Amino acid sequence: MGKKSKYLVTAALPYANNYIHIGHIAGAYLPPDIYVRLKRLNDEELVFICGSDEHGTAIEMAALTENVTPKEIIDRYHYSNKESFEKLNIKFDIYSRTSNEIHHKTAQEFFLNLFDKNLLTQKTEKQLYSEKEKRFLADRFIIGTCPVCGFEEARGDECENCGSNLSPLELINPKSKITGDIPVEKETTLFYFPFGSYQEELSKWIDSKTDWKQNVINYCKGWFKTGLRERAITRDLDWGVKVPLENQNGKVIYVWFEAPIGYISMSKELFIEKGNPDGWKDYWFDKDTKLVHFIGKDNIVFHSIMFPAMLMAHGDYILPYNVPANEFLNFSGAKFSKSKGNGILVKDIVKIFPADVIRYALAVNFPETKDSDFTWDDLQAKNNNELAAILGNFINRTVVFAKSKFDGKIPSAEIKNENDEKILESIKLSASRVNEFIDKFRFRDGITEMMNSVRAANKYFNDSEPWKLIKSDKARCGSVINTCLEICHSIAVLINPLLPDTSKAILEILNKDESDLKWNKIGRRVLKQDTILGENKILFPQIEDSLIIRLNEEYSSKTEKLVETDETNLVSIDDFRKLELKVAKIMDCERVPKSKKLLKLKLKVGDKSKQIVAGISEYYEPEKLLGKLVVIVNNLQPSKLMGIESQGMLLAAKKNGELKIVTVEGDIEEGADVN
Ligand SMILES: [Zn+2]
Repeated sequence: MGKKSKYLVTAALPYANNYIHIGHIAGAYLPPDIYVRLKRLNDEELVFICGSDEHGTAIEMAALTENVTPKEIIDRYHYSNKESFEKLNIKFDIYSRTSNEIHHKTAQEFFLNLFDKNLLTQKTEKQLYSEKEKRFLADRFIIGTCPVCGFEEARGDECENCGSNLSPLELINPKSKITGDIPVEKETTLFYFPFGSYQEELSKWIDSKTDWKQNVINYCKGWFKTGLRERAITRDLDWGVKVPLENQNGKVIYVWFEAPIGYISMSKELFIEKGNPDGWKDYWFDKDTKLVHFIGKDNIVFHSIMFPAMLMAHGDYILPYNVPANEFLNFSGAKFSKSKGNGILVKDIVKIFPADVIRYALAVNFPETKDSDFTWDDLQAKNNNELAAILGNFINRTVVFAKSKFDGKIPSAEIKNENDEKILESIKLSASRVNEFIDKFRFRDGITEMMNSVRAANKYFNDSEPWKLIKSDKARCGSVINTCLEICHSIAVLINPLLPDTSKAILEILNKDESDLKWNKIGRRVLKQDTILGENKILFPQIEDSLIIRLNEEYSSKTEKLVETDETNLVSIDDFRKLELKVAKIMDCERVPKSKKLLKLKLKVGDKSKQIVAGISEYYEPEKLLGKLVVIVNNLQPSKLMGIESQGMLLAAKKNGELKIVTVEGDIEEGADVN
């Protein structure tokens, strides 16, 4: 036997300026948790690393916007997100943070290693500088028009509309995101890393990765085709890892250069905690370690090109074994996005549903090869029709039978027949297929296989007809129920990586400890005859329609549906004329107390006045709206929002997280008809 491999599994470091949502979980956190739990049941040696990414302009920006320190921002999201993972039973060996001293030191050492080898170039160049704010405006501190697609709110590092990577100098009409100040060009000296020099080596390396996911390979090839450029790896900023050289005051290492080094520093931290400070080297310096980066597709370039290039340049470390990036999970056809605020936050959903139900509903929909969709109705259906009707049902009917007909004890299996051995054998085979699927990052296939095993178990129960046998042949009946209880144990192991709480609950019913919670025990007989069964419980209570209806209402207001014009939604001119669109003038405007989104507007429509409550508070300051001529739907049925009557609707245009109200150009008297 050859040397057994070790696994170094990482999950993308969540950015500590926002709460994680279920799209993140389906993309980069639940897949590795299942993967790691399965490897552990197989006694594989591994560590599972994650933590908060706590530098970068987004955090400094959030701090400036809220008028708090960056430390307050990162503490808020770090601890909240850590708790969210725990509540979903996503169990890292360490969940640390890049603001820790050990990370700063590790990143600085990495930087100096490259500097000492003369791999970094220093260039003096013009950057945008705000005289008013007395700072260089890097990355997200600057917005302007995208030179590629014309989007007017493109950021200095990236256009969210077309996905182009940008530098601040490329933006047309740049201005400060915070103050709107028009910046000047000022010289600064930055360090560059020559990614282009590694293109050939990277390209060969990617070519050798024939088992990588096609989306990842295609993405990398796209980058190679464009050609890798050198990129600045330092920034003129306050918040971050200081550049460890003289005369570098006010300079930090670019967040995307230092963040992935976090996987190394967090490994160090983990082994210090374990009392084995050098233990991390057994992973990072050992060519037999399989380094697996779980990420979402937006992180592919950093994990399969940039970080590997940095690791190649450094030379001491292993390269990734695989980067199984997922696509995105959408919500009822709308994109989850931080800026749109329409995500289902983990901290919220764990208050409504048990962790295992959430894990299952997400896992069967993992966006493995293309974007997938999450809906509340689907979660309900998965719980009621699969978890309860198939899995819960098998455990329940077996335990209920044993309790009522065999004094609540595990009966003897003295009259076995070949059907008993066949079902156990088939579950064992199924387990090896699950193992293969998940080893290849085909989680959905693995989960289908798990559930097929449980379906087969139900069929065995039905075909054996224990309810008839109990009258005709109690000893044979006992053997069937004994086998069913053994199957319950096998299922507890089989589903453990996906549904850890349910697995534990089944073991408790079987009065079994975790000693046989091993993958190679699946399909084997491990129970002791005459063991008294524990208390039975309903593993998956039904999810009622009323709850789903409520959630649909609550969350649909947070999403934007695409309206497609097709033959079926054309309206006649008569239908259109039923709508009374009018020009109105905003006379007064104030925030609705306790609401983040709502503004209360007083409008003049001809000689009448009207009150409208509109969800635009995130986009407009109340005072900026005074005197504007806007277009409203005048004859909308009145409704109440947060107890305040709204007597119409404001027309607004919305896309890419931006919203603009429809205004009237030039002068026209309010009350004018719009058609
Ligand atoms: Zn663009």
